[in-house]
Amino acid sequence: MRVTVLSDPTRCTGCGACQSICPKQAIRMEPDAEGFLYPVVNSGLCISCDRCEKRCPSGRVQVRPDPQILGGQIKNRAIRQVSSSGGIFTALATRTIRQGGVVFGTILNDSLAAETVGIFSEEGLSDLRGSKYLQSLSADAIREAANLVHKGVQVLFSGTPCQVAGLYVKLDGAHPANLLTVDFVCHGTPSPGVFSAYLKTLEKLHGSRVVRFSFRDKRLGWKDFSTVAQFENGDTESGTQTTDPFLRGFLQNLYLRPSCHDCHLRYDKLPADITIADLWGADMICPERDDDSGLSMILVHSDEGASYLAACEGLDLFPIAHADPLRRVNPSLFEPSRPHRNRERFFRSYAREGFSFDRLNRLLAPPGRLERALDRLRRAPGALARRLQHGR
Ligand SMILES: Cc1cc2nc3c(=O)[nH]c(=O)nc-3n(C[C@H](O)[C@H](O)[C@H](O)COP(=O)(O)OP(=O)(O)OC[C@H]3O[C@@H](n4cnc5c(N)ncnc54)[C@H](O)[C@@H]3O)c2cc1C
Ligand code: SF4
Ligand code: SF4
Repeated sequence: MRVTVLSDPTRCTGCGACQSICPKQAIRMEPDAEGFLYPVVNSGLCISCDRCEKRCPSGRVQVRPDPQILGGQIKNRAIRQVSSSGGIFTALATRTIRQGGVVFGTILNDSLAAETVGIFSEEGLSDLRGSKYLQSLSADAIREAANLVHKGVQVLFSGTPCQVAGLYVKLDGAHPANLLTVDFVCHGTPSPGVFSAYLKTLEKLHGSRVVRFSFRDKRLGWKDFSTVAQFENGDTESGTQTTDPFLRGFLQNLYLRPSCHDCHLRYDKLPADITIADLWGADMICPERDDDSGLSMILVHSDEGASYLAACEGLDLFPIAHADPLRRVNPSLFEPSRPHRNRERFFRSYAREGFSFDRLNRLLAPPGRLERALDRLRRAPGALARRLQHGR
């Protein structure tokens, strides 16, 4: 009797494609102890057709030709200021809306949880702008986007590479002309449960509810992006990449989804028509264009993506000849993030006491001499055995 979709849940990306294709609506997504969503099967409804497992996109990669690499930004400075990188997403999405289409992207909903939704108006795009460093709930959006595509509506679907792969599962692998997919270079998605526990800690400190949260505020510039929490009582709290506890844990891979550490949806294996990202290294690649207001890197993987991008208005684009210089400055373009050495310890303490600033600071501190020595021994058991054998 089926109770889950994959026998090895660490492979599950949480894309929700299985929920959207189950003919009996037997699957729902539920958080595990780490706060990530996983499919759970209602065995009373399941007819053991195995569609969910057979069509799960996890671990399936298709190698594509090397993408065309561009740099660029939206010319409208005000839009750039409220976008995470160079605002390319807004230019792509605006074209879709003006064609009478629907744009799927991620919002922070009223409970400050990340959720993928369909947007029908240019004003609505403001909710999609800005990276939300969380795994978003996407199963319903995958179903809705596929329905609209079948009805002939122009659809732009943006999401993590694994969510885009999930949408193509729902579409039986078809690439219809009225669908444009946009993914991004992905460092990995942090636990929604951990974020919500972090917000509770902030709320306790301020004695008030957090009503808005920005993960990529540009008040200090694009490169030194910061977080801003706004509270119901009018307070605000801002943190940088070195001071905001949640951001520090995210950037150091303390609580990314397990599947992110083995995700090969990168560079020439990305599933979308267009990939957007930060043009980290802009000061070295194109210093004359870098005023720290935000620049994007764009990877174009398909002819449809190329013609869609070329028809977008208000963009300033330029070619980037080689991907190699990007390897050092944006490693997620080529390889998955390695888990922090204290990931397991973090989740053990999270299960006991929730999100604790003190605990986080201790776990993120550089390892001491003893820990470094133990770590070397752990990583080299063969070497240790040989030394013990030879009495050294
Ligand atoms: C979890 C995560 C990890 C990332 N890692 C990297 C990285 O390692 N290197 C890099 O160069 N860029 C990374 N990015 C991408 C980068 O932060 C920008 O989102 C991207 O450059 C687009 O910027 P923009 O200015 O064009 O668009 P913006 O206007 O900022 O648009 C943001 C776009 O991202 C989508 N989005 C936001 N949050 C989520 C989410 N949680 N899940 C799915 N879609 C979401 C929105 O729907 C919208 O399409 C990451 C983004 C996220 C969400
Ligand atoms: S389809 Fe997506 S959510 Fe379902 S098991 Fe596979 S990876 Fe997980
Ligand atoms: S085996 Fe078929 S019916 Fe059962 S959960 Fe999977 S898709 Fe649904």
